[in-house]
Amino acid sequence: ASASSSRKESDDSKAPLPKGVVLDKDGKPCRTCTSVAAWKNLTRQAKSDSSPSTSTSTSTSTTPTVPLAAPTNPSPSTIPPECPPDVEQLGRSTWTLLHSMAATYPETANTEHQDNMSGFLKFFSKLYPCWVCADDFQTWMAHPSGRNQPKLGGRKDFGWWLCEAHNEVNRKLGKKEFDCRFWEERWRTGWKD
Ligand code: FAD
Repeated sequence: ASASSSRKESDDSKAPLPKGVVLDKDGKPCRTCTSVAAWKNLTRQAKSDSSPSTSTSTSTSTTPTVPLAAPTNPSPSTIPPECPPDVEQLGRSTWTLLHSMAATYPETANTEHQDNMSGFLKFFSKLYPCWVCADDFQTWMAHPSGRNQPKLGGRKDFGWWLCEAHNEVNRKLGKKEFDCRFWEERWRTGWKD
């Protein structure tokens, strides 16, 4: 099941959250699970709620938690420099790290290397700072058929597997899939002229 079904419900006594805001497990808004655009709406709402001269929220939606960032915010969000990352910036940086790890993975990995990467992915999928992202990623990896288990024998297999993992998130967010035949050009060798 998608993590979206397990997201926290908001407190009904409060104004509905702006679209795109994801709650953390403690019920507070989760910044690393939310786009900066949605976060700005939240801070705007908080300001207007605390301002006596401003009327209260006019939204009639009771939807507490939200679709993920991308479909609700078609224009790319920009974060002021030196500010904490939103779900998108965190994601871009993390994919850069992960695909670069695949790019530098041995062509043929020995047992120790495979074990290290397996351990890394296991902990990564539990500790990723956007918890809804982490939950979905773990669920995808643990597909009962075993078909999504990391392929760690060597660089080509691992890079392809990671590309498929990334495409799974792309699909979930309504983004275009990446053609995995080109993952090495994108992340290792550079594009051919
Ligand atoms: P990104 O998706 O960050 O991609 C960066 C670059 O990678 C692209 O510009 C492209 O050149 C290349 N690329 C794209 N697809 C592939 C691929 N399949 N293989 C190789 N290279 C590729 N965000 C959410 O809102 N909800 C989630 O549930 C969620 N889950 C995530 C789970 C994980 C494990 C990670 C690492 C991130 C997750 N994100 C999630 C963040 C999301 O995937 C994006 O990083 C974010 O939306 C920014 O997207 P982007 O369009 O800038 O490009």
